[in-house]
Amino acid sequence: MSQKLNILTVAGDGIGPEVTGEAVRVLQSVADLGGYNFAFREELIGGVAIRAHGKPLPDSTVKAALDSDAVLLGAVGSNEFNALPPGQRPEAGLLKIRAELGGFANLRPSFAWPGLSQNSPLRAEVVEGADILFVRELLGGLYFGEPRQWDKDQGAAWNTMRYTRDEVVRVAKVAFELASKRRKKVTSVDKANVLEVSQLWRATVTEVAKAYPDVALEHQYVDAMAMHLMNQPRSYDVVLTENLFGDILSDEAGVITGSLGMLPSATIGGKVNLYEPVHGSAPDIAGKGIANPLGAILTAAMVLRYSAGLEDEATAIETAVKQVVSDGYRTADLARGDQSAKVTSTTEMGSKVREVLVGARAQAPAAR
Ligand code: NAD
Repeated sequence: MSQKLNILTVAGDGIGPEVTGEAVRVLQSVADLGGYNFAFREELIGGVAIRAHGKPLPDSTVKAALDSDAVLLGAVGSNEFNALPPGQRPEAGLLKIRAELGGFANLRPSFAWPGLSQNSPLRAEVVEGADILFVRELLGGLYFGEPRQWDKDQGAAWNTMRYTRDEVVRVAKVAFELASKRRKKVTSVDKANVLEVSQLWRATVTEVAKAYPDVALEHQYVDAMAMHLMNQPRSYDVVLTENLFGDILSDEAGVITGSLGMLPSATIGGKVNLYEPVHGSAPDIAGKGIANPLGAILTAAMVLRYSAGLEDEATAIETAVKQVVSDGYRTADLARGDQSAKVTSTTEMGSKVREVLVGARAQAPAAR
């Protein structure tokens, strides 16, 4: 267990600073309650970095990130820079920091929240109880494979889906390790009926599974999986897949939760882990104080779980979020005109989570 944790925050643009502020305050509460020393340092990324330094990821941010124990990112993106070429836009900073930190396993939990099932377009009886952890390979596959080209003279374009055995082994091990601490099931998703790269994937995952006899392994084709996820999301525990399939399926599974503002993520396995809520900078609501901070707060829980080994504290944050939601508190995105909802601002929602955390701690000795 790490008593001292150096956390770099790169809050970025739009609602990034609003939601990251709440995540940091929750982490500070955890530190105060547990006697931990969490040190926070802030650096720039995205549009704010372009304004200050002329580029979306200044060298100072990269250095601070590599010197930290964990990087907590808000969101990047600002309409002001939409006319810039892709490589100079705020979003380029995000891709670059991911590459600099080198994480290869992207973890995206997706679960149904008690009391929020009406926010999902899926029927309550289908989503209730769903609790899936996606493990998406992030540094290989079609997004990085060479050759890649759009040859305008030939009127043709091509990309390459390529994996090495070692790339599959390392991400599969992450999935099996995580599954062994959860409900002990890995569903590996591929397209092995058509693609050789998927045949390598399937054979390698099957081989890795032998070292985890207590974890059940099943294979699914990606097309079937897209359907099963919506029909029977409760059937899945850890879903392991390659880069492109994971990108699509984890977004699809976001509908189980019902709001983009509730989804956390972590990218692990590199030099320093990178933590970010799934949502973007939401320029349409930035500065209004109404952004949902729960995705960022749940991301903070992942910082404690994966960079500090503070499993109890991570669970305490998640339990506090569940409590606040089941007590009826809702930011505007969750309330959706529900007259019975206790509509809160971003900061009020953060305060509610902290109140529950502190209250749970105060009751803990009596419960023992
Ligand atoms: P977005 O996630 O910013 O917003 C989509 C919709 O969801 C908007 O209506 C927004 O108001 C709402 N929303 C998102 N997060 C919310 C929250 N926490 N609380 C309440 N409502 C929330 O996606 P977009 O509109 O497609 O993109 C806006 C900008 O963000 C673009 O510049 C895009 O490139 C960037 N972006 C960044 C990231 C990232 O930093 N990881 C991810 C996606 C998009």
